[in-house]
Amino acid sequence: MSLTLTRPELVRSHNFIAGLWRDALSGGRHPVSDPATGAEFANVPDSAAADAQAAADAAHAAFDSWRDRTARERAQFLKRWHAAIVANGEDLARIISREQGKPLAEARGEVAYGASYVEWFAEEAVRAYGDMIPALMPGKRMMAVKEPVGVVAAVTPWNFPLAMIARKIAPALAAGCTVVAKPAEDTPLTALALVRLAEEAGLPAGVLNIVTASRGQTPATVASWLADPRVRKITFTGSTPVGKYLARESADTLKKLSLELGGNAPFIVFDDADLDAAVTGLMAAKFRNGGQTCVCPNRVYVQSGIYDAFARKLVERVAALRVGPATRDDSQIGPMINARAVEKIERHVEDALAHGATVLTGGRRLSGDGLDGPNYYAPTVLGDANREMALFSEETFGPVAPLFKFDDDADVIREANDTPFGLAAYFYSTDVRRIWRVASRLESGVIGINEGAVSSEAAPFGGVKESGYGREGSRYGLDDYMHVKYLCQGGLA
Ligand code: NAD
Repeated sequence: MSLTLTRPELVRSHNFIAGLWRDALSGGRHPVSDPATGAEFANVPDSAAADAQAAADAAHAAFDSWRDRTARERAQFLKRWHAAIVANGEDLARIISREQGKPLAEARGEVAYGASYVEWFAEEAVRAYGDMIPALMPGKRMMAVKEPVGVVAAVTPWNFPLAMIARKIAPALAAGCTVVAKPAEDTPLTALALVRLAEEAGLPAGVLNIVTASRGQTPATVASWLADPRVRKITFTGSTPVGKYLARESADTLKKLSLELGGNAPFIVFDDADLDAAVTGLMAAKFRNGGQTCVCPNRVYVQSGIYDAFARKLVERVAALRVGPATRDDSQIGPMINARAVEKIERHVEDALAHGATVLTGGRRLSGDGLDGPNYYAPTVLGDANREMALFSEETFGPVAPLFKFDDDADVIREANDTPFGLAAYFYSTDVRRIWRVASRLESGVIGINEGAVSSEAAPFGGVKESGYGREGSRYGLDDYMHVKYLCQGGLA
């Protein structure tokens, strides 16, 4: 699969520290691989603790002058960055598709989605209001002002290589923080291109720094930020075990944390639902990015009276999905991110079959027929799923929709909540009483009610329970990068 860009210089192969593109101090490199085949097509620095330290030095040195700029100046920078992302959107989409395997049409959507956060936080930067507090004693004035937390370290996953990092960097810069970032080892090129565009948009040296590292070098690289008292916040999107590790390891310096972690989303279809709308919602929520999103429904609960009709309609739509190379215009499902991801999907499906599931469509790895590698998996619907299966408790992160049959509202809510996770949940019903009852009982940070596409820059995104804490997007998203300082002036009587 080729990578033809209008501006080939957007493909960067160095770290960006203190305004300079640099090799890792060790000179080490780490491969970037084609998701379909696993073959290397580019490489980037394999950084270590010393590189991360240099990035933190630069971010620390730049902090005072960045925070002292007016919110308007920071907003203007973000607007220029937003314009650059939009102007180079097609190249960015091609880079995303190439390294992550998302079909080009979806990659274009991700560019627009990621850019929307940059625009949103440019707008929010100038609205970081505090409060005047009525003083309870004469001669005093009391107020609360918001201040940037300081240097922020951002660690991001591979499944949305542009949007996940944009929605961390944009609020951090808007708040007046400076940033050190480490993108996922599978997808560093998109993040480096974004940083290149920030440089072109006139970001001062040291305000945004990025280092890349292999999976092997990542723990030591990030650990240098965890131990560094100058780094005041960790913002992380990724798996729950890594999130817990980051929380533990940053405890000694008591950093502020935003953790957007794994999910195990239920999708419930009640017998009064509009079935066609429910199928459309499930298609959008489940099969986007080949099922590799943290808000993907992992367990689909269908009430028994409509189970067969729903399954029939769903299978018709899923069987019609076109699987193909990410760059082909008509592909709807690309390759999975790597061989390990396909193996996990295979393991989950085999385990489900061993526990009594039936394949209604798909259920196998795909090859041949224009597919350019072994990492493709057929969009799959499984019937007769039950809680003994691994896919009940673990995220499959692939294009597999297991159908669980249920009878009773209270039972399905109990089942849906029977997970340590609580990121997204969806349900379909036309009964207004049921809607409010279920919405209030589901333990989840994000709920789609008769809606499968919930993400928006204007909305607070984040989890409860072991899906983490902190919110991205919306007005709450800026607060995560600020603390409240209380000022009390006396002697005014
Ligand atoms: P991951 O946790 O393995 O990796 C995420 C990032 O953490 C990568 O940059 C990786 O290099 C880094 N990392 C890994 N080990 C580390 C360590 N010991 N120290 C420091 N950094 C380390 O997750 P992944 O496989 O990239 O992403 C999939 C997971 O992310 C899924 O569980 C998914 O649900 C979750 N996710 C959550 C959201 C959300 O917003 N909640 C969004 C996307 C993905």
